[in-house]
Amino acid sequence: MLIQLSKLFSVADYEENITGHIDIEEIQMGQESYQIRGKEDFPVKIKNHGKREVSIELSTSVTIGIPCSRCLEEVLVPMDINVFQIVNGDDIEQSCENELPFIEESNLDVDELISEEIIPLLPTKVLCSDECKGLCPVCGTNLNKESCDCDTTVPDPRMAAIQDIFKNFKEV
Ligand SMILES: [Zn+2]
Ligand SMILES: [Zn+2]
Repeated sequence: MLIQLSKLFSVADYEENITGHIDIEEIQMGQESYQIRGKEDFPVKIKNHGKREVSIELSTSVTIGIPCSRCLEEVLVPMDINVFQIVNGDDIEQSCENELPFIEESNLDVDELISEEIIPLLPTKVLCSDECKGLCPVCGTNLNKESCDCDTTVPDPRMAAIQDIFKNFKEV
């Protein structure tokens, strides 16, 4: 969703209350993308504070689908987003796009603003349950749903390295 800001920058004390919504269906983070599974409309308050300074205020909740770190099944992670952002009209005219990626010409890109809030909140590790058995390292079967006959006693070199670290740790 785009919100036109030009009037807000030019009229002192001007204030607008808008119903905001999220148009995008996923959050892009580097190579990864995470589906937005739940979103709702929310109020956006935009106010001119004089000196061409505009504040943008919004709160909403979104639910993001994130793969379980062990079995890759999607886990629904609710997040509360609270934004209070001051934007200076002169900065917008001078800055290149990278500095304020949620401002497009004189429009506020609500989706971009919310994406920027969500990305740092994305957990690095999500488990569908503490007891998640994960995937078989040999055949990839989801061990929460099925079992397989693979011999998983062969030590994985990565696991061996971790065990070494633990050993060294104990010796200290
Ligand atoms: Zn899992
Ligand atoms: Zn297997």
